[in-house]
Amino acid sequence: MNANAHIEAVFDETRRRNPAEPEFHQAVAEVLESLGPVFERHPEYAATGILERLCEPERQLIFRVPWVDDSGAVRVNRGFRVEFNSALGPYKGGLRFHPSVNLGIVKFLGFEQIFKNALTGMAIGGGKGGADFDPKGRSDGEIMRFCQSFMTELHRYLGEHTDVPAGDIGVGGREIGYLFGQYKRITNRYESGVLTGKPVGWGGSHVRTEATGYGAVFFAHEMLATRGLGFDGRRVVVSGSGNVAVYAVEKVHALGGRVVACSDSSGYLVDEAGIDLELLKEIKEVRRERIAAYTEARPGASFSARGTVYDVPCDIALPCATQNELAREDAVALVKNGVRAVAEGANMPCTPAAVQIFRDAGVLFGPGKAANAGGVATSALEMQQNAARDTWTFAQTEARLASIMREVHTQCRETATTYGGNGDDYVLGANASGFLRVAEAMTAQGVI
Ligand code: GLU
Repeated sequence: MNANAHIEAVFDETRRRNPAEPEFHQAVAEVLESLGPVFERHPEYAATGILERLCEPERQLIFRVPWVDDSGAVRVNRGFRVEFNSALGPYKGGLRFHPSVNLGIVKFLGFEQIFKNALTGMAIGGGKGGADFDPKGRSDGEIMRFCQSFMTELHRYLGEHTDVPAGDIGVGGREIGYLFGQYKRITNRYESGVLTGKPVGWGGSHVRTEATGYGAVFFAHEMLATRGLGFDGRRVVVSGSGNVAVYAVEKVHALGGRVVACSDSSGYLVDEAGIDLELLKEIKEVRRERIAAYTEARPGASFSARGTVYDVPCDIALPCATQNELAREDAVALVKNGVRAVAEGANMPCTPAAVQIFRDAGVLFGPGKAANAGGVATSALEMQQNAARDTWTFAQTEARLASIMREVHTQCRETATTYGGNGDDYVLGANASGFLRVAEAMTAQGVI
């Protein structure tokens, strides 16, 4: 069987065995479509069933999460942890608390995570988890009881050498604190390295909170530099207003760019003077309100509940909200308005049709598994500090993050050149490079 026929057959089988999981199919297709030239050169990977094994998680956990809300009513949610691949290290990946979470979403995220984590060059495997729990409007007490119930089941599968969760959408420092407390209580172990994204002061790493947003900006900076461009004086649009978006805005401003728009699920905000970061943080992180509140304090800004943030003309777009938020029409609008670079701060925010539009128009496009790898890379730095019972300074940690992102960028370009001839093909570079590192380790470890 030739390389493409083999890849096609694995994809068909994966779709057949995992029905009704469109996001998982999309994530698998996105990787597999890049691997033709890799399998041409490495037919041995077909012979040892690397792809068949990669597409099947090592372990999938689904569990009941019962909890009591503030009115005394019993609530039941569904919890997940997909331990996808441990060839390179303990399963590593975040937990997402959002009503849209289901097994297919967790599998898409876990699959992405394998290659992203491999790209960082660190010793971390791939996994992901979460629950269909909606934290919106929940009190601190409700969040705590939910986290405690979630960990009461999940703790038996975790460990600093086994599986190390962190945050994702709906899970930040507060939730990681409650989860860690419950893990410690049940196991009677102060096992710092069992969770990352802990607050600084009791095991958390400096820069972990900022890392995904900063990293995406570093990656975009590297892409722009290949064309002699930079952020200085550039108009930037960032979608979302969560942890990734907020720190992407901060770094763009530090590099001399101006973020003129951001969004949340209720609509988008335009502030031509540049997004006021302190105000945005106060609204989203302290008050936990919708972004429309921003215009009350900044009369020059406007909020729109219709259209999308991508209608706002910009030189650089950083989609930092959620999967499939940037559709074909958005890509067309961005290209029409002269966008030069797009770097994915979120996981799979651009639909395949949107990515194709960018590629056809020659827009620099950094796929999430490369561009947003800074978050998980800094989690791995947190694990290193925990293992050594050490704490690094902010500056030291940020320097490590910057050098990891530079290395990820170089690796993408070099691998893309080796396997496709065009260094600008970051999709090919990220997929092929992440795949090769995992495939080599899986081959060495035998058929397991
Ligand atoms: N959820 C983040 C991601 O998508 C971070 C995972 C981690 O730090 O383990 O990569």
